[in-house]
Amino acid sequence: MAHSVRRHNVGFLPGMLDLMDPVLSELVNLSLKLGASTADLAILGEGNTSAKVGEGQFYVKASGFSLSNITPSGFSQVNIAPIMEALDGPDLSDADVRGLLGESRVEPTRDPLPSVETFMHAYLLSLRDVNWVGHTHPTPLISLLSIEGCEEIARQRLFPDEIVCCGPATAFVPYVDPGLPLARAIRQSVEEFIDEFGMVPKTIWLQNHGLICPAKSTRDVESASYMAIKAARAWVGALSTGRPLRPLTSQAVDRIHTRPDEHYRQKLI
Ligand SMILES: [Zn+2]
Repeated sequence: MAHSVRRHNVGFLPGMLDLMDPVLSELVNLSLKLGASTADLAILGEGNTSAKVGEGQFYVKASGFSLSNITPSGFSQVNIAPIMEALDGPDLSDADVRGLLGESRVEPTRDPLPSVETFMHAYLLSLRDVNWVGHTHPTPLISLLSIEGCEEIARQRLFPDEIVCCGPATAFVPYVDPGLPLARAIRQSVEEFIDEFGMVPKTIWLQNHGLICPAKSTRDVESASYMAIKAARAWVGALSTGRPLRPLTSQAVDRIHTRPDEHYRQKLI
């Protein structure tokens, strides 16, 4: 008998998504890894993840679900167009945002309400070579993001693997309200970063809030997230000594960022 991958029709169970969709299962796996308590990236309902699926649609975590134990039914399949239109439109009330998020679902009767951070996921997934997005609230990074002048730290690097996994610098976003205002602020910061560095940032810091890692693969989302935590711990440790800091020079950062063997290593990580 010929073997074929079948789509399970689970439409009779409200809130369930197609269990056989490989994008969705990879997204669930990524979310469980980022939500694991040992990772210290997110607890309770913190953080959200997303993935491009086909033309003009994406999966995004729904409101009220925890990354640590999420299942396919914790995600919503969303049309990108109405969300992107809202980014360019007028400000919306909380009720209008909820209405728009509800209407943007591909299957409104099946899927739960998407996260309020759906706007920033839509924008980042619209960028070239971004297929996955992981947004988390790592404890050591929140320490760093609560320090006066942390935007200057975002532009510096302490060690070579930080450059390989997190890029030559990090895009920085000052604190704004979550949802539509945050998505607009992220778009501005990312566009400035692309103008300056000629690439989409591998890591984005949100002041007093957390981390976003947009990437081509789930493996890259993971390596950027884990290395960003390690770098934040290194920064907090170095700052706590009270002694003058010695981050890598911009020449050293450029050298690692453009070295062919580092690009090879990056592929292996
Ligand atoms: Zn958040």
